[in-house]
Amino acid sequence: MPNQNLQEFLLGHLNELRKQGLYNEIDVVKSPNGPIIELEGKKLINLSSNNYLGLATDERLKEAAIEAIREWGVGAGAVRTINGTLSVHIQLEDRIAEFKGTEAAIAYQSGFNCNMAAISAVLDQHDAILSDELNHASIIDGCRLSKARIIRVKHSDMIDLRRKAQEAKESHQFNKIMVITDGVFSMDGDMAKLPEIIEIAEKYDLITYVDDAHGSGVLGAGAGTVKHFGLQDKVDFQIGTLSKAIGVVGGYVAGKKELIDWLKVRSRPFLFSTAISPADAAAATKAIELLMKNKELNERLWANSDYFKKGLKDLGFDIGMSETPITPCVIGDENKTQQFSKRLYEEGVYAKAIVFPTVPKGTGRVRNMPTAAHTQALLDQAIAIYAKVGKELGII
Ligand SMILES: *Cc1c(COP(=O)(O)O)cnc(C)c1O
Repeated sequence: MPNQNLQEFLLGHLNELRKQGLYNEIDVVKSPNGPIIELEGKKLINLSSNNYLGLATDERLKEAAIEAIREWGVGAGAVRTINGTLSVHIQLEDRIAEFKGTEAAIAYQSGFNCNMAAISAVLDQHDAILSDELNHASIIDGCRLSKARIIRVKHSDMIDLRRKAQEAKESHQFNKIMVITDGVFSMDGDMAKLPEIIEIAEKYDLITYVDDAHGSGVLGAGAGTVKHFGLQDKVDFQIGTLSKAIGVVGGYVAGKKELIDWLKVRSRPFLFSTAISPADAAAATKAIELLMKNKELNERLWANSDYFKKGLKDLGFDIGMSETPITPCVIGDENKTQQFSKRLYEEGVYAKAIVFPTVPKGTGRVRNMPTAAHTQALLDQAIAIYAKVGKELGII
């Protein structure tokens, strides 16, 4: 017999969500996650992946993964600190450090895990964290796990950050204070104001932590938001993911040698969760090598996203304040946003609606992620569908 309390809890909440239209039915994709995807027997232009550079389906990465499986098998066999550290992991970490311009790097099983790992490895209840209110869920959870005092900062509001940093510092309540931010904010596509954040950090002696999941492979000719601003020597923690532009799965922290040495002995996902598979490590290494050698994919990503953004803007859509390929198309009303996304789907474009509580009430949007793998013809087709649906629903 299932526990009755649990069943009541689950049924009650599931019914409530369904009644409010907030229960997310998971779409099952029947094809690789490329520029065109297949769902329900239908082919759609895919504008919802994080596969910025098209590397998730790149033949060179596939070959690297297959070769690694032949040589190493499918699993690492242990956690990194026992005997799950294979030479493929060290190669990956060496490449990441080179790519990021840091002394060292450590790989984790996901970007999410990096934030579970790194924050609580250095902070505890005697410390404080200044955290942008729009930081990613994994940052929020990582901060909570550390037990440090969390001080929410208004989104990219440097006056608020400066004031709260000063207050925290001058209260003499905390041993250490960290400022933590996304490099690129995933719902709006805006960049963190890193030069000002660093200046405030220097003034108030803050540890600096940038989670650049959406900046890596995208900004700074691929090396990320920190490189974009030339601040590699000023950021203590550079977090990245291997799951978005890199196209595989995993995450990493790049920084000083002492930091990485410490994370290797104290960060719990490194100690207590099995290492990423040899195939993932080899494919991610290949991706980083490609990006370091060749800027072409990165340039194509930007050319495509500039083209697509201009297309939507010229039609009269509100594309918010994005500074990166992330292209929100802000509709506003939640129901209308859902309806818009549904009509796009029927016409052949897969672009997910993102509504409250993921974004503030009244700012519902359809989020588009053009990639290096889209052709101009596909983007033209998508823009034409946007025009049709936008007019039909009275949005443009
Ligand atoms: C996507 C994302 C993550 C999670 O990365 P995964 O590798 O998919 O676990 C972490 N942080 C930020 C800021 C992200 O955007």
